[in-house]
Amino acid sequence: MAGIEKVIIIGGGPAGIAAALVLQERNNISCPVYEVRSEPTTLGGAVGIPSNGLRLLERMGLSDAMMAKGSETSMLNLHSLNGNEVGRMDMASWSRQQTGFGYLRIRRTDLMEVLLNTASERDIPIHFNKRLTKIEENNDKVTVFFSDGTSDTGDFLLGCDGIHSTVRKLYVDPDCTPQYTGISNVFSLISTSQLPPAASSMDALHATLTSDGMFGISPATTARDMVYWFFSREIAMPKSGDTRDGWEERGKMEVDNLKSTFITLLGESDSPWVNMLRDVVRKTDVVKFYPIFKIMPGGPWSKGRCLVIGDAAHAMPPHASQGVSMALEDVFLFSKLLNHHSRSLGAPSSRSLGDLLQLYECKRKARTEQMLQTAERNGDVRKKKTPMRLWANELALSWGLRIYGAIGLDKMGIGQKPLAYDIEEEQF
Ligand SMILES: Cc1cc2nc3c(=O)[nH]c(=O)nc-3n(C[C@H](O)[C@H](O)[C@H](O)COP(=O)(O)OP(=O)(O)OC[C@H]3O[C@@H](n4cnc5c(N)ncnc54)[C@H](O)[C@@H]3O)c2cc1C
Repeated sequence: MAGIEKVIIIGGGPAGIAAALVLQERNNISCPVYEVRSEPTTLGGAVGIPSNGLRLLERMGLSDAMMAKGSETSMLNLHSLNGNEVGRMDMASWSRQQTGFGYLRIRRTDLMEVLLNTASERDIPIHFNKRLTKIEENNDKVTVFFSDGTSDTGDFLLGCDGIHSTVRKLYVDPDCTPQYTGISNVFSLISTSQLPPAASSMDALHATLTSDGMFGISPATTARDMVYWFFSREIAMPKSGDTRDGWEERGKMEVDNLKSTFITLLGESDSPWVNMLRDVVRKTDVVKFYPIFKIMPGGPWSKGRCLVIGDAAHAMPPHASQGVSMALEDVFLFSKLLNHHSRSLGAPSSRSLGDLLQLYECKRKARTEQMLQTAERNGDVRKKKTPMRLWANELALSWGLRIYGAIGLDKMGIGQKPLAYDIEEEQF
């Protein structure tokens, strides 16, 4: 069987571009990227990247460029609606010691700019406006066909085309349908020049719990001149069901009503903190709505010479800030798989590509399911609750955070061990 010299990548998001960079550098493989959009997507506003993902960006030689754009903010400060601080914790105190990296919040446009500029410097071809229509596999080759009549043939196909992946639908697992989690986000970025001075000195992710969702705000740039905010809450599926039109109408309604819904939830408090939140929401012009879907674990990720990675395989709610980092881990393990495969080609004890892919799936499924569970647990505070329940939640969190700090659970790595995990220690 011939070695793998060309991997076709479908999807030019974080998973796709990172895969092209890593496979070119570490495996000496050429990787044309095909993206359906006419330009890079700006979905996500700003993303959080914890220690495990930052360590991989460093290995890709991109960490300085990312740090120069994003904001390092590993503190989480919890507030109540009366403006008091419920508690605080350093989300990366232990994992920073282990890995040398804490937590970065970076605008998605900045993240993509660093990835795309690097791809351009390394002559990785990225083709936009490419709609995939068919995948065919034969004689150790895989061919993709696009709606504009063009096609390409490679030794392997990576589906990096996100939660509504066409590669998954057409080829790998047609029965898999993403499921709505019941929670939706509205989010935006706003310049701190429009806000009180406290906004530009913010150095944490500040979360405020309400009886109908959670509001989060965090600096998103090194210069602290932009903040990213989101309001995450339970929203019922549209009456017309899970259709694009239904979600568009529901999204428009949420965005139209956001200011009044949020101001009502903030109540009467006149504290500086709550006044700032009112200001942030009132002064934001463009707000985006995103219903959060996930892929149910358990389905196949590979078939023949094709593998889906990133959100196409294991999209999860963003409440653990792990989507990008999970995609990077996928990329590094797949690179290792290919190196192992090429080194052992022709050896009597060599395992088939199919066997290696099964092993890959087994390792990555255990890890991503652990992260999915964390994300779902973190999502619980966003659910609707009575004022009494909100009070009880805040009390529990306040005591939990005090105990966490006081008895040094953070120093033992409790809750942070998954952030120090190193995918490169996995073996085939
Ligand atoms: C509101 C929100 C907040 C988030 N917050 C965080 C966070 O704090 N931290 C974090 O790590 N993650 C976060 N995420 C998740 C993160 O954005 C994803 O996990 C990450 O973008 C996955 O990367 P990906 O490349 O697999 O998929 P995507 O980013 O979805 O990229 C897929 C790409 O494929 C393209 N594509 C789709 N279909 C096709 C096709 N048929 N042919 C060719 N191209 C195609 C798309 O246009 C896109 O460019 C958040 C997501 C949302 C929505």
